[in-house]
Amino acid sequence: FHGESLGDGITGFAGSKNAEQMSRLALMGDLRLAGQRDELRVFCQPKIDMKTGQIVGAEALIRWQHPTLGMVSPTHFIKLAEQSGLIIDLTKWMLERCFSWLQKWKHDGIRETLAINLSPHDLLSSSIVCDIGKWMEQWKICPEAVEFELTESALVEDPCAALDVLTRLKAIGVKLLLDDFGTGYASLSYLQRFPFDVIKIDQSFILPMLENADSAAIVRSTIELGHILGRHVVAEGVESEDVWRCLQEQGCDLAQGYVISKPLPIEQFQGWKAEWQAAHLV
Ligand code: C2E
Ligand code: MG
Ligand code: MG
Ligand code: MG
Repeated sequence: FHGESLGDGITGFAGSKNAEQMSRLALMGDLRLAGQRDELRVFCQPKIDMKTGQIVGAEALIRWQHPTLGMVSPTHFIKLAEQSGLIIDLTKWMLERCFSWLQKWKHDGIRETLAINLSPHDLLSSSIVCDIGKWMEQWKICPEAVEFELTESALVEDPCAALDVLTRLKAIGVKLLLDDFGTGYASLSYLQRFPFDVIKIDQSFILPMLENADSAAIVRSTIELGHILGRHVVAEGVESEDVWRCLQEQGCDLAQGYVISKPLPIEQFQGWKAEWQAAHLV
């Protein structure tokens, strides 16, 4: 289940600075229309409880099915969307789609949570919490089914504003996950100040943890720190059985990664779940 090939078509953009700027502009123009042209997709990646092997949820990941470039990775267009302000619309699109899926899952008796990534820019929009609350009510979504993932960069620019938004989100009853932990500019005091339920260790520490003693030390101490603070810890980027076993021995709570599943179209989640359960749970 390796090598989700994404956005291969846009590697050709790496030419001169001018060509690069031109292509960024072209891409931005296309991105503006992507919603209307029905080119955006919701993929999701399952998240497993390492103690029980149970599927506990999934992370929603946006994809752009570009007419000529193929499937474009969000690593290529989220930055662009943030710089142009388009991110607000993309987030809205994602929220509505995810809530409609959660409504369907609830109807079908599926209890998994769905985690939605928010951009730092989303926290600056004054109506974000009201909008989320309103949509969750409209779609009749249980707050326990909803998680939001935020990176440290969402906190550092305006910590007071971020704390206000996060506190109000928590009041709705959703869970908050600190994404890509250890790669941003936040200090450890942020773990104390912000109401995160879960810490996600960035894949840049997980991927080399069996070969690199420093990565291994960071992973081990993050799991311990998280637990001492009463948080759950997720490892992202678990690609091999060996890494899985090592994390399991260290008491890591949850895992996401290619060894379980690459991100798949959300339409396929229920089918994937049935297969996983048949193969792994007796
Ligand atoms: P993220 O939230 O940290 O998501 C995890 C990324 O790691 C995903 O990349 C996922 O496909 C990838 N991944 C999962 N398992 C493995 C593995 O075992 N090995 C490796 N090497 N990679 C793995 P993806 O989907 O390309 O997304 C990249 C980033 O784009 C995300 O990082 C997130 O920051 C952002 N993003 C994705 N969807 C959204 C969205 O709807 N809104 C916002 N604001 N950002 C999004
Ligand atoms: Mg994430
Ligand atoms: Mg992450
Ligand atoms: Mg990441």
